[in-house]
Amino acid sequence: MSDTRRRALVTGGSSGIGACVAQTLARDGCDVGIVHVDTPERVSSVIQSVESHGARAWSRVCDVADAGQVHEAVEAFIGEFGGVDILVNNAGIFCDRVIWKMSDEDWRRVIDVDLTGAFNCSRAVAPAMRRARWGAIVNVSSINALRGKFGQTNYCAAKAGAIGFTLALARELARENVTVNAVAPGLIQTPATEGLPDEVRRRALGEILMGRIGRPEDVAETVAFLCSERARFITGEVIRVDGGQCL
Ligand code: NAD
Repeated sequence: MSDTRRRALVTGGSSGIGACVAQTLARDGCDVGIVHVDTPERVSSVIQSVESHGARAWSRVCDVADAGQVHEAVEAFIGEFGGVDILVNNAGIFCDRVIWKMSDEDWRRVIDVDLTGAFNCSRAVAPAMRRARWGAIVNVSSINALRGKFGQTNYCAAKAGAIGFTLALARELARENVTVNAVAPGLIQTPATEGLPDEVRRRALGEILMGRIGRPEDVAETVAFLCSERARFITGEVIRVDGGQCL
């Protein structure tokens, strides 16, 4: 916990890992804004939970793949909170198909949301962070970026791109005291994964050395650490949060 109240923007903060990141950052003393593509009902419990920590909460529907919407959302966030200190690029989708069945749209949409979304949001916050000479950006990648996964050429390309993006951006922003890191989760129990077939879940469980599927808290605590004062000399790092699934 820091004496300074930080202002955090979490993309995809209405569900799963992002909702848990929003709550964890609020617990750690941040005011929190979320952008998402969900209904207001879905968002209201996250807002309540953020506010229950005494934090200010803000939300907006915004497709991170759309640079214009991102620009407006970031302007509105900065207008509300007076600046932006933390960005968590968490919004993501998957659309699994083997390559011989993958349409242009399947490919493009995943790249646009999972990779271009992180670019759009980071570009929009970078000037304010550089001016303030303090910032923390965390990109949510995946272990599948590191090892590939059958049926996920689009997703693995986007998430591997997010790692290259992290390394390059870390170099660009380090001098202004802005850190840029990534987390690479393994299988985590969220609304996105609850519909997975039992066989897929069993196979993943067999790979996870620690013998359980990950929880959103496992990822959120790592993200919160990377955004905290305790991690100010860490940049360009990729941390797997996978219980040893990828070892
Ligand atoms: P989820 O489906 O529960 O939540 C996704 C969030 O992203 C929602 O808030 C949704 O509104 C938002 N979103 C989707 N498309 C968007 C868009 N175009 N613009 C703005 N917001 C958008 O997913 P989750 O499982 O919590 O995943 C969160 C992140 O973690 C994703 O980037 C995902 O790829 C990554 N990840 C998840 C797992 C896992 O096993 N759950 C593993 C590795 C990586």
